[in-house]
Amino acid sequence: MITLSFHGAAGTVTGSKTLITINDKRLLVDCGMFQGPRVLRQRNWRPLPFDSSGVSAVVLTHAHVDHTGFLPRLYKAGFRGRIYATPPTVELAKILLLDTAHIQEEDAEFRNRRRATRHEKALPLFTADDAKATFEHFSTVSFNRWKKLGSEVRFRYHPAGHILGAGSIEVQLDDGQKQISVLFSGDVGRYSTPLVNEPCQPPETDYLVCESTYGGVVHEPQDIFFATAELIDKVVKDKRVLLIPAFSVGRTQQITYILNVLMAQKRIPSIPIHIDSPMAVRVTDIYRRFPSYHAINCDELRRGKNVFYGKNVKLHRKRKSSKRLNRLRGPAVIISASGMMTGGRILHHLINRLPNPKTTLAVAGYMAEGTLGRRLLEGAEQVFIHKIPVDVKAEIVTLMGLSGHADAYELFHWLEPWQNRPLRVFVIHGETSRSEAMAHDLRLQRGWEAHVPALDETVEL
Ligand SMILES: [Zn+2]
Repeated sequence: MITLSFHGAAGTVTGSKTLITINDKRLLVDCGMFQGPRVLRQRNWRPLPFDSSGVSAVVLTHAHVDHTGFLPRLYKAGFRGRIYATPPTVELAKILLLDTAHIQEEDAEFRNRRRATRHEKALPLFTADDAKATFEHFSTVSFNRWKKLGSEVRFRYHPAGHILGAGSIEVQLDDGQKQISVLFSGDVGRYSTPLVNEPCQPPETDYLVCESTYGGVVHEPQDIFFATAELIDKVVKDKRVLLIPAFSVGRTQQITYILNVLMAQKRIPSIPIHIDSPMAVRVTDIYRRFPSYHAINCDELRRGKNVFYGKNVKLHRKRKSSKRLNRLRGPAVIISASGMMTGGRILHHLINRLPNPKTTLAVAGYMAEGTLGRRLLEGAEQVFIHKIPVDVKAEIVTLMGLSGHADAYELFHWLEPWQNRPLRVFVIHGETSRSEAMAHDLRLQRGWEAHVPALDETVEL
């Protein structure tokens, strides 16, 4: 018997965990952390509805924390199997897991100091040591190579764009009675985005487990170079500070690259760019090590030319140096994490700069429900950061050309080559309305049977 159980990213975009059970073998596709509002984050503390020690392997689609951030908890609960991922995903996941552990530890310490928790003592979800314990279990698998896990399972990765190393996973299963194939889309990237490879044509399979972050939504077409140039012109003219919250993986490199290109072409004047992220430097080194996994001009990389850090770019690793940016006057750009404004150094910049009408905040991607990013995008006039009320006088703009996720149109374009109808599509990784919209469009436009699973639902294939 073969079943799929959806223990995360069902009715929401975070916490991706899909359990494949084949006879008495169990493997997990992605092992993500729930993020966003408290009600979702609390799900990270519930006991898993399956025996972790019985899971023989985890296969990761990509490094983002909503796909990897639960690995240390799985390990603590008894998992001792292998964790498979592409080579760049392994390197990025290590950085992101350690960073998440530090945020968890700092947050628990902060809450204990302030006694802001009603529990005896605030605890981190996992520590840096917990994260490191999982590292020995990582194994790399390159794109397009089959990896066999006993006689019942084999899988291979197909490039999905999105971020460095991201893949869709094609799994072939044989329980002795029947042979079936399942494609896990992972997060599907966009077409024609700077630095990121385009998603490859996915193979046809019997079943499809598909993301729906932007189900039913089409991004407005935006020439990202043109839009950024227009934005910078205004920043220079009005001596503004442009604040860009960005994930250290991918988006920080993209923005810096675009700004450098525009300055080199003299389409924008030369202005200071401050990258306030200790992680961004390490992540950029990973880009250098895996030239075949991204769309940067490799000749430039080989010649040692720095495509990310032009002469205007200043990196801020230390906290003290980050705090000094509070006195910075425009025109200037500050890029800082986290992308959805849920933690990290961006928060002190927001406390400092949101009340200032000379600030422009550029939101450059998906903002999950319940995040500060989402509230700002929806036009909140006042927000609370670390329980401090902050008036929002800053101008807020979007740069959706930098979104890492395919919109509804691009997801259909990605699936267009499929000639045969899959037996069933499971639509996950979206807020319920987005997943329902995607399922509806699949039924209407392709005539496919599409189902939006509930959290912890199990289906037999
Ligand atoms: Zn992702």
